[in-house]
Amino acid sequence: MTTGGTARVDHGVTSGTFSLDGQTFDVDNNVWVVGDEAECVVIDAPHSVADILAVVGERKVTAIVCTHAHDDHVRVAPALRSRVGAPILLHPDDRPLWELTHPDQRWDRDLRDGDAIEVGGVTLRVLHTPGHAPGAVSLYAPELGCVFTGDTLFQGGPGATGRSYSDSDLIQESIRARLFTLPDETVVHTGHGADTTIGAERAALDR
Ligand SMILES: [Zn+2]
Repeated sequence: MTTGGTARVDHGVTSGTFSLDGQTFDVDNNVWVVGDEAECVVIDAPHSVADILAVVGERKVTAIVCTHAHDDHVRVAPALRSRVGAPILLHPDDRPLWELTHPDQRWDRDLRDGDAIEVGGVTLRVLHTPGHAPGAVSLYAPELGCVFTGDTLFQGGPGATGRSYSDSDLIQESIRARLFTLPDETVVHTGHGADTTIGAERAALDR
């Protein structure tokens, strides 16, 4: 748990599958919840509404922000929306991926580069970081000293770009231009697995 003023970051892990290009894999996804005692934003909606609500607790959810639309990140977004009454936010460039998972549902609001999402007295700044997915975004929280990178940057390097709708040159450009320009000490909260920092990943990639 990280605190900045009254706002904080809470974390859970939930298990399920990821499917694309006719293959299915077992995956554990991180659930990130940012907010204060009263309200919060949920970053990604993987696998299980109950697991997400266990991290949310009694707080009001003001938005469900999707880092990208791979099915392991948006699977329960519509179900969570029904449950908590919050809008789903997604970058429109991920429409083709969203429609593979939810052909009969829509997200509510488009995310755009530079958007500011306010919650619990802190700001989540939307950085469009395409490559892993065309509409992949990272969410930078300067007051909390952290960035939520989804599957764009992990501990150990860039996210996968071997499947449809991915682009390895583009993810490198996104990481260098948008993420490595953040302060070294910025904590990176990823879509899967352990935290890292911008400084550690920049040093590893330049080695
Ligand atoms: Zn992904």
